[in-house]
Amino acid sequence: MNKLQSTTQLIRTPKRRLITSALPYANGPIHVGHMAGAYLPADIYVRYLRSAGEEVLWVCGSDEHGAAITLRAKIDGTTPREIVDKYHVEMQRAFKGLDISFDHYSRTSSEKHHKVAQDFFLKLLENDSFEVKTQKQYFDEEADQFLADRYITGTCPKCHADEAFGDQCEKCGSTLSPTELINPKSTLSGAKPVLKPTTLWYLPMGRHEEWLKDYIENGMLKGKAHHDAKAWKSHVVGQCKSWIDGGLQSRAMTRDLNWGVPVPVEGADGKVLYVWLDAPLGYITATIEWAEKNGQDWRNWWQNADTELLHFIGKDNIVFHCIIFPILLKQHGDFILPHQVPANEFMNLEGDKISTSRNWAVWISEFLENNPSGSDPMRYVLTSIMPEQRDSEFTWNDYRDRINNELADVLGNFVNRVLVLTRKYYDGVVPCAPKKDALTDVDKSLIAVLEVAGEGIGDLILRHRYRDAQLEAMNVARRGNKYLTEVEPWKLQKNDPERVRTIMHLACQVVGNLGIVLEPFLPQTASKISVSFGVEGSTWKDVSPTIVNDETILGDLPILFTKIDEETVEAEKAKLGNKGG
Ligand SMILES: [Zn+2]
Repeated sequence: MNKLQSTTQLIRTPKRRLITSALPYANGPIHVGHMAGAYLPADIYVRYLRSAGEEVLWVCGSDEHGAAITLRAKIDGTTPREIVDKYHVEMQRAFKGLDISFDHYSRTSSEKHHKVAQDFFLKLLENDSFEVKTQKQYFDEEADQFLADRYITGTCPKCHADEAFGDQCEKCGSTLSPTELINPKSTLSGAKPVLKPTTLWYLPMGRHEEWLKDYIENGMLKGKAHHDAKAWKSHVVGQCKSWIDGGLQSRAMTRDLNWGVPVPVEGADGKVLYVWLDAPLGYITATIEWAEKNGQDWRNWWQNADTELLHFIGKDNIVFHCIIFPILLKQHGDFILPHQVPANEFMNLEGDKISTSRNWAVWISEFLENNPSGSDPMRYVLTSIMPEQRDSEFTWNDYRDRINNELADVLGNFVNRVLVLTRKYYDGVVPCAPKKDALTDVDKSLIAVLEVAGEGIGDLILRHRYRDAQLEAMNVARRGNKYLTEVEPWKLQKNDPERVRTIMHLACQVVGNLGIVLEPFLPQTASKISVSFGVEGSTWKDVSPTIVNDETILGDLPILFTKIDEETVEAEKAKLGNKGG
């Protein structure tokens, strides 16, 4: 084997990729932080792979079980079913509004999912994966209910913050058990709970420490070249290692609740699967549903070593996707493990944490309803400040500046200039390619940009560097703008029309390429450009200095971006923290 072959093999792409995004929890609408965390990055990744001709499947769905939903129903005086039905619809509206292009969107309260989750649980039982323990758990005598997760609060034993929940302290991020809380209190009645015995199935995570450590530190890299696309983000590895180093405790995988997937064991009435056992299995259910609809075998995506599995999530879900879910998949035995978990950190808003209860959020559906300019401006800003390596912050001033100075002044202005000049000089017909010897150095350097743009942007996307990838795509437009400013065709048209034909031919090529390389980030704008410049149907492989055919007749193109005025910015800021209605 020669050197080139071996290199190719080391960084080979997988045969197919299965992408999941965190199942959004069906008890509230989707805000900008959700989008920037688990959905927009995955959408960019998947759109790129589709354009590059790779085999890819992207599934998601509503997470409809768990104590936060039953509790919400109790507070609202309604049923869990009504809550999840409402948000299952509402969340999809937000995704559609932002052009999030899932291949399939499912839900965990479906009969199908209950069956998938129960079968999975039974296989785990068969493989001796659990410890069944009857132990004393907190019980609310007034509400006649065992208290787990969000049903119980108290002081965090780790950081001593008040109001830590039975499953997690939101202040310090520790995962907790109800019995660890100091001064526990029922969130149902406010009463001090009593201890009462109940039987629960525990996942003894300590048994898995050894291989997990290896999996997280080395698993992805073993036997392969150290390629960035395979390396996990340092904050993801860091969080996992600190969990493992702290010793993995057994974790209850069932709950005493009447809303969820019933534990499929005789005598387990009133018990359901823990939501964090049931939710990630929703990825499998969604894949099965998609496969049935498309005449495919779902096992190819979950049980085939040629498939790479990637989970897009926010940092609060790292433990579930990098530790608990891999344990469950390995205990089952037939499944591949996650290859990459490009978790994002959090996005803050105008100097504060995003908060649903304080209405300190930008709600996607509501925003899009009041903004007829489509999904691209919001997508652009969220990608520009995506919290890839550390927390980031959304502000309305920054939103305005990015739309006005970057989308409108750079991209919109450049595309419009090329269109207007081509119409003025050639009635909208793209001039023919110049002869090679007619090219100046400045032409050649522009051509060089187009020669490497596709590969450069694609490589950044594969390495989950979406901010840089979008910046590189915008740099193609910036370079085009600069080119026109440098060569000033409007000063040459009178005395050197042949030179202007060369300039405008190249400028049209730049715009045509933007129709492809902007598609993962700004799908609506890219589509308009592609149609106008005759490159619709072109793919990532076509990105080149010759993408637009000679004598293409340019179609109509509306003004791409409207500038944001001060009034709009102030109106948006004023909405924060107000309940409205
Ligand atoms: Zn804490």
